Amino acid sequence: MYDVIIIGGGIAGLTAAVYARRANLTALVLEGVVCGGQIINSPEVDNYPARPHVSGVELITDVQKQAEEFGAEIVYAHAESYDLTGPVKRVVTNKGEYEGKAVIIANGANHRKLTCPGVDQFSGRGVSYCATCDGAFFRNRAVAVVGGGNTAFEDAIFLAGLCSKVYLVNRRAQFRAEPKLVRQLESRENAVIMTPYVPEEIVGDKRVSGFKVKNTETGEVTELPVSGVFTAVGMIPDNGAFKDILTLDEGGYIVTDDNCKTSVPGVFAAGDTRSKTLRQLVTAAADGALAASAAASYINDME
Ligand code: NAP
Repeated sequence: MYDVIIIGGGIAGLTAAVYARRANLTALVLEGVVCGGQIINSPEVDNYPARPHVSGVELITDVQKQAEEFGAEIVYAHAESYDLTGPVKRVVTNKGEYEGKAVIIANGANHRKLTCPGVDQFSGRGVSYCATCDGAFFRNRAVAVVGGGNTAFEDAIFLAGLCSKVYLVNRRAQFRAEPKLVRQLESRENAVIMTPYVPEEIVGDKRVSGFKVKNTETGEVTELPVSGVFTAVGMIPDNGAFKDILTLDEGGYIVTDDNCKTSVPGVFAAGDTRSKTLRQLVTAAADGALAASAAASYINDME
């Protein structure tokens, strides 16, 4: 039996592993495919202390190395079901069952999908959720990016370096993105920022050939001649498996106290999966530290 089982190998989970090992706890990190979570799609992270301009992959590789050097075990398996209420916590994965005294849930969040016609039909055929992964397929072509947050602007700036034209489509005239990113995109000659426009339909034959967007003030529909639609409209948590076990907020995020304790003793939540106001790398890392320290106190009190 492990002291702590950590669900998810993003920045929150890996930081929790570092702190768990420093508290001399045995720590297992369960990660589906590859460590890193959302941040592996960020080519440049400017707001992580002491690491200006670091890439997401570089940053996460370093944290993973640190966790492994400190003795955390990483197993690549999908957690499928949970028995979390007793003193022994059980996590069933596609590669077997694991037991722990405490569990830290750091499973992040998934991409929110658009709801207009064409989204599912053209998924992987022009509709993408990852500019850094798929951008090269659209070299010298026109593409659209939907969203007005940091991700949308980072994606649009990255794509402007590859594509003939980039339309950034946002439903409001205001942006959630940092002003610096907005200015960077505005300065690109091949970028067009379209507000307030909402997605109406993604059209094409075998692949995307156009994207209809509607101006919410005038009602006018415009078809953008694009071969790619990159979606960057935020994330939604994947906490369905916990809905009957833990308290979730109205958005499906896990409710915790300031120390990342959930409503069930011995179960903690860290990072984007947790109900909180600021979802950033630095707050995810801080959550990982808090959750592991709280888990250490919980295990100490048990023994
Ligand atoms: P976000 O900040 O939540 O922005 C989501 C954007 O999508 C908003 O413009 C939102 O519009 C729009 N949107 C939401 N649902 C929509 C829908 N159904 N149809 C059309 N538009 C929709 O999400 P994010 O950009 O993924 O960022 C998530 C978090 O990660 C943020 O805290 C962000 O700062 C952080 N992040 C940081 C970095 C970095 O520091 N380098 C990079 C990436 C992300 P409204 O504004 O109208 O709601």
